[in-house]
Amino acid sequence: MDYIRSLLAIPAFVLALVLAFVLHTLIHRQSPRPRPLDSSPFTLPPSEIIQQIASFLPPSAAATFASTCRCIRFAAGTQYLSALRASPTENLELLELLLADAPNDPIANVPSQFLCIHCARLVPIYIGCGVSATPACRKAWDLSRRYIVSSFSPPFFYTIMAMHRHGHQCDELLARITPPTTTTYFSNTGISSQHSVRYHIANAGSLLIRTQVTYIFPYPRVDGRTYSLGSFCRHIEGRTENFSTAMELVQTEALSGVGRSQPNFIDCKYCQTTVLVGARKLRGRGIGLFITWWKDLGDGRAGDETWANQLRPAEPTQPEKRKQGRHFDMPVVEEFEGHNARYLDFDELSSRADRKELLRLCPYIAQAEK
Ligand SMILES: [Zn+2]
Ligand SMILES: [Zn+2]
Ligand SMILES: [Zn+2]
Repeated sequence: MDYIRSLLAIPAFVLALVLAFVLHTLIHRQSPRPRPLDSSPFTLPPSEIIQQIASFLPPSAAATFASTCRCIRFAAGTQYLSALRASPTENLELLELLLADAPNDPIANVPSQFLCIHCARLVPIYIGCGVSATPACRKAWDLSRRYIVSSFSPPFFYTIMAMHRHGHQCDELLARITPPTTTTYFSNTGISSQHSVRYHIANAGSLLIRTQVTYIFPYPRVDGRTYSLGSFCRHIEGRTENFSTAMELVQTEALSGVGRSQPNFIDCKYCQTTVLVGARKLRGRGIGLFITWWKDLGDGRAGDETWANQLRPAEPTQPEKRKQGRHFDMPVVEEFEGHNARYLDFDELSSRADRKELLRLCPYIAQAEK
């Protein structure tokens, strides 16, 4: 019995080997590289149905539907094209869809193209809008460098917001445009300073930016000549009266009694920018001045008013930003910090590591302390 069984087993084994070989060759021969433009499950329904589907889609979606494969392109017709050409919004929507689906640049691991809403096109990241940039594009670059932060790039902003709308995780992209915190001690003036920037995408879908500048002065009182603060927004700057007044007030408060001022908020009348000023005595080091400002940059879409307000100059005829409720409310600050602005500790907004670094660089001036 055993003998017969082994005899039977041999051809079965050989058969199995042959079968495996045949299957292997068949599989490899029958699955060449997929050619998505030539084959599609949509070849099955009649072209009227495909036309019907395309007719229900907004032009941008019809265009992306038509680019899935050749069959659909032919079946869908061209009726969406004129609507697409006529609508800048639909055009941008199509660019967003293309951007969101394109693979990242393999080296930098960021989108390989930027979306420029001013030039209404996708541009390679290494080239940018370049010489063919539209005047609106150049203007946005120039103004945002002056009034937001010098490292800010409008196309990167529009790109991040478009990616965010299409469900991409954008934390890493935001980290790329966040400049590192800088801490400096100036031996000639004895002033230590720190500058840090953070971004946050609000639940409502707009980009918020928080900038902090902290100074530690060895002498009791400073004025506009001792610090050099640029612009908080296009409408409030270091030399603006309400800011100088706030700086004076917080220092007076810090130098008296408890050694710590009340938080002093300045809200821009023309854009979504809120500045917080606070001061406190730092034992043995002098006085710390904490200036933080939050801005809402909007959702990065063409024609967004929040963004336009950031870059538009203050005009007397322009209506002031509408305030809701009886109290001074700070939606940008509260959204960014995740809690009521009234309970903010102005000297504890920066990270622990940043605070330690600032104190490390700031020398003790024991003789100044009584
Ligand atoms: Zn997509
Ligand atoms: Zn551009
Ligand atoms: Zn402003």
